[in-house]
Amino acid sequence: RAKKAGPGTVCFFEQADDRQSRDRKALQADLAGAIARDELFLVFQPFLDLRNNRITGFEALLRWQHPSRGLVPPSEFIGIAEETGLIHEIGEWVIRRACATLADWPEDIRVAVNFSAAQFHNTAVLQTIVQALADAKVSPSRLEIEITESMLLSKYSSAASVLNALLQLGVTVALDDFGTGFSSLTYLRKLPFSRIKIDQSFIRDMLVQPDCAAIVKSVISLARDLNIAVVAEGVETADQLEYLRQISCDEVQGYLISRPVAADGVRALLDTKKYRATYAA
Ligand code: C2E
Ligand code: MG
Ligand code: MG
Ligand code: MG
Repeated sequence: RAKKAGPGTVCFFEQADDRQSRDRKALQADLAGAIARDELFLVFQPFLDLRNNRITGFEALLRWQHPSRGLVPPSEFIGIAEETGLIHEIGEWVIRRACATLADWPEDIRVAVNFSAAQFHNTAVLQTIVQALADAKVSPSRLEIEITESMLLSKYSSAASVLNALLQLGVTVALDDFGTGFSSLTYLRKLPFSRIKIDQSFIRDMLVQPDCAAIVKSVISLARDLNIAVVAEGVETADQLEYLRQISCDEVQGYLISRPVAADGVRALLDTKKYRATYAA
């Protein structure tokens, strides 16, 4: 019996594996043509400044409208894009589209763009950024690049040189998902980050787990001393917002303020007084 069940089980997993890899290959092939077919688009999620209850900018988040699968989230295709090298073309498209969209917004509003490790270690991206900013006629200071701690680990020196080159251009850099990687305080001291984004897992748990609150408070106070602004990600409740205000967090982002909106929803968000009335202290 055991002999029979053994191979049978293996076979079952192989079939599931095959299906998965076929599916992945199909998605890969579709993704290769997604830009040409105009299936990619950006949505934008606001940053709210807690000191004055004003929106200071938006993070650009990538979406793929697949012709038969429907809306595919980045968690399902960014990895594929990275493995296949498509991330360079896609990343360039994101930068250009984000800058072009930014041109329609008020001058005190910034846009933040997420980077993958491969993009970040390719210095050609600097030329793309310069060109995109020039074509859109927007100031470099209005563009922020979001990177994660893991991108600093493998090739620290190349990361440092790209970071410094971005700074030379006048583009700011934020450290995304802070606290989830191998956070090293050395990075904060040696690299020129303008902003730290505390990962949403800490924000989710901070009102129920005292150790989580301690970490959030410490990061905010450390960042203040280092002259780095702090964004809390994933704020979903009014209690979380109130707590973050009390401990002097600079900015918040999350479903409580707004879900990511399409480009034509940005104006409406900037014009509305809703968030001001609702969340004013
Ligand atoms: P991220 O940069 O940390 O973005 C935050 C994610 O959290 C977004 O998911 C956002 O929709 C979601 N989020 C925002 N507020 C809340 C909240 O209150 N509660 C919860 N539960 N979630 C919230 P999304 O858009 O699915 O993006 C996931 C990740 O995909 C991003 O994480 C980023 O790492 C990556 N990504 C998105 N767009 C791009 C891109 O253009 N290029 C690259 N390389 N990566 C991207
Ligand atoms: Mg981000
Ligand atoms: Mg994040
Ligand atoms: Mg995240």
